[in-house]
Amino acid sequence: MNSFVDIPAMVAACRAACGKVYLVGAGPGDPDLLTLRAARLLAHADVVVYDHLVGPGVLELIGADVERVYVGKERSRHSVPQEGINTMLVRLAREGRSVVRLKGGDPFVFGRGGEELQVLAAEGVPFEVVPGITAACGVSSYAGIPLTHRDHAQSCTFVTGHLKDGSCNLDWPALARPRQTVVIYMGLSGLPDICAQLVANGLPADWPAAVVANGTLESQQVVCATLATLAAAVAREGLASPCLTIVGEVVKLRDELVWRAEADGARTTATTSNNTAQV
Ligand code: SAH
Repeated sequence: MNSFVDIPAMVAACRAACGKVYLVGAGPGDPDLLTLRAARLLAHADVVVYDHLVGPGVLELIGADVERVYVGKERSRHSVPQEGINTMLVRLAREGRSVVRLKGGDPFVFGRGGEELQVLAAEGVPFEVVPGITAACGVSSYAGIPLTHRDHAQSCTFVTGHLKDGSCNLDWPALARPRQTVVIYMGLSGLPDICAQLVANGLPADWPAAVVANGTLESQQVVCATLATLAAAVAREGLASPCLTIVGEVVKLRDELVWRAEADGARTTATTSNNTAQV
């Protein structure tokens, strides 16, 4: 009797029986910003596992027969803890299903996409990645604020204003250098501290800065101000998450380049250093 066991063939057979996880970026909200690949996968997957930041218009593109699993992930209010999401993805794929793991923006930009893929890789679950438009790019475009401009910013830095332990311990001297744009994700609750640190580390108090809430959606709101006035202006306008902060001279270009009217009820505020101008 031949007791030889063909391990590679067995692994290949297991792989073939296993489904696949597609880590897909949903973009910043407007469904028209989705990639064609993402739209096709949403229509034909077996199951879509999605976060709270995925826009409602994107969810409408999920096929009628496709199972949906909401795993939340608002700050401090995770409906399913990260380990639970990881286990779920492995289990669904091992059931032989085609799984879309749908995340806001781009899955590799402050999206824990890398962490989820590390688990899949360790478990031998096949996966693919479909990029999405990250909030910095989508939101700045719809707000009329170019992230770079030869007269104002030769580089652009994306940072998160919210670390795992709740603190906001950034490289302030590097972020406070001129001729760059700094984009801060998840920085709403720390906004007063972020603005104060940038000024304490050398940027002028009247340096342009903006916060965009619900960027690319009908409900988009933009507040333009200065580092000295931004936090108060944002509080006054009642902006709520998701909010993206853009700091740099490029913010001033919005006066010339704004192309999208904000919806009724959503105001655009241009606050100069003395807090007077409104558009
Ligand atoms: N992976 C995502 C980022 C997830 S972190 C991406 O690539 O865009 C979540 C943060 O992204 C939010 O706190 C907010 O700072 C930003 N964000 C995402 N969508 C946004 C939107 N439509 N408008 C403003 N900010 C947004």
